[in-house]
Amino acid sequence: MRQLDKHYIGGEWVASSANNRLDVINPATAKVSGQMILGTEADVDKAVAAAQGAFETFAFVSREDRIEILQNLIAEYQKRMPEMAAIITEEMGAPTKLANGAHAPSGIGHLMTALKVLENYSFHEDRGPTRIMKEPIGVVGMITPWNWPINQIACKVAPAIATGCTMILKPSEVAPYSCQLFTEMVHAAGVPAGVYNVVYGEGMTVGEALSGHEGVDMMSVTGSTRMGAAVQANAAKTIKRVAQELGGKSANILLDDADFETVVTRETLNAMRNTGQTCTLLSRMLVPHDRMDEAAEIAGRAAKTVVTGDPTSEDTYMGPIAHGAQFEKVGMLVQKGIDEGARLMAGGVGRPDGVDPNGYFVKPTVFANVTPDMTLAREEVFGPVLSIIGYKDEAEAIRIANDSEYGLSGAVQSASVERAQKVAAKLRTGMVTINGAAGDLSAPFGGYKQSGNGREWGDHAFADFLEIKSVMGFNA
Ligand code: NAD
Repeated sequence: MRQLDKHYIGGEWVASSANNRLDVINPATAKVSGQMILGTEADVDKAVAAAQGAFETFAFVSREDRIEILQNLIAEYQKRMPEMAAIITEEMGAPTKLANGAHAPSGIGHLMTALKVLENYSFHEDRGPTRIMKEPIGVVGMITPWNWPINQIACKVAPAIATGCTMILKPSEVAPYSCQLFTEMVHAAGVPAGVYNVVYGEGMTVGEALSGHEGVDMMSVTGSTRMGAAVQANAAKTIKRVAQELGGKSANILLDDADFETVVTRETLNAMRNTGQTCTLLSRMLVPHDRMDEAAEIAGRAAKTVVTGDPTSEDTYMGPIAHGAQFEKVGMLVQKGIDEGARLMAGGVGRPDGVDPNGYFVKPTVFANVTPDMTLAREEVFGPVLSIIGYKDEAEAIRIANDSEYGLSGAVQSASVERAQKVAAKLRTGMVTINGAAGDLSAPFGGYKQSGNGREWGDHAFADFLEIKSVMGFNA
């Protein structure tokens, strides 16, 4: 049993002001794997005071010193990378292969990207006698979810350290172990006391105390759109900047010249990756009406090849859903798809065969003939559920893709890159991938519309954490 019984404040592990605890559940077995202390408003006050104190000096620490801090942190992360992967498998059920191949490396990837950006980033610009300075915004409150736990922590912490901010992180209460391990690395790396603080706890207590706190200058949050709106409303009282990375319902447009066998197979398997719990998931596959049957058959066939089960097995492609409430929600939305008349090509309600009967396992599921008004086409499932939607022509495909309250990601598949580029330009989303291109940690990550405000990753993440000061007469 793991015990996370202390917060990390002012460079030390400190007891909470109250002794309330929450069980942490292993989603593959539904058994308790440990306990986490639940922080209070008083704990947040203490962490904010530590961050405010540290900011007075950390804001003026040289670029070279911040480079050294990031280098030390990267070295600590490198040492404990396999441990990080294993702990993520335990806390949220990512299969071993995915945890080692993507989850754990994403954390160090963001640290290395921030280091590289910091080496050459210009923190001022001169316009004649005037200097425009870019300064750290101050104390940042950070709230992260459970689906890519260390990715989301590192992509906030790395640029915050690089820009000279101090921070209080509230990790997900569903997946707190990766945060504990990362915090041990921060401590070992010698990050100055008070620069990085962690208060464990729930959204309604610790999260709200942070977003409404007068001593917090900015909130950087990742999670549901409901949470993003709640944080923004609570932060409005103190006019703090709020950067949000929220939900998505992203469209994958297959143009008529795409190689359907290759593309539908690849994109169906991608939709099942991380058990579909990815905010940028391409959960709506758009195909020409007259190719619907072909796409449906290929996708159904691909989904049936997905090996689901024990996440600690090397052969597993898809582990469980990360927590019980989300497991219930996925089941409910799959049933809704059936009730609303979508054509089930693979999967469906209930657990797949051969898995732990208590674990939060769901079936890799494909629905064809989904119409744009169905719940499956509108609501984020956050599970391994692919919906195939038909379109008449390219213009209609773009219209359907944009007909969403979200605008996080999208994709275009075509034999002609020129055709794909034209479609990509018309998508109202923060990101578009053409023909399955690899991800890019230096490219800005974020969304339009209710998918959020602000951009993480690379140099754009620096911009989010910086304030602008114009000094007239600086160069007189
Ligand atoms: P969630 O919004 O319930 O929780 C996310 C975090 O917010 C948790 O740490 C939680 O404790 C906290 N929180 C909840 N209510 C709060 C409140 N009122 N005030 C302050 N903090 C609060 O979401 P989740 O279930 O953990 O994550 C799934 C959602 O996150 C999905 O909708 C997914 O699309 C989204 N997501 C988005 C991105 C992105 O980058 N855009 C990345 C990952 C997840």
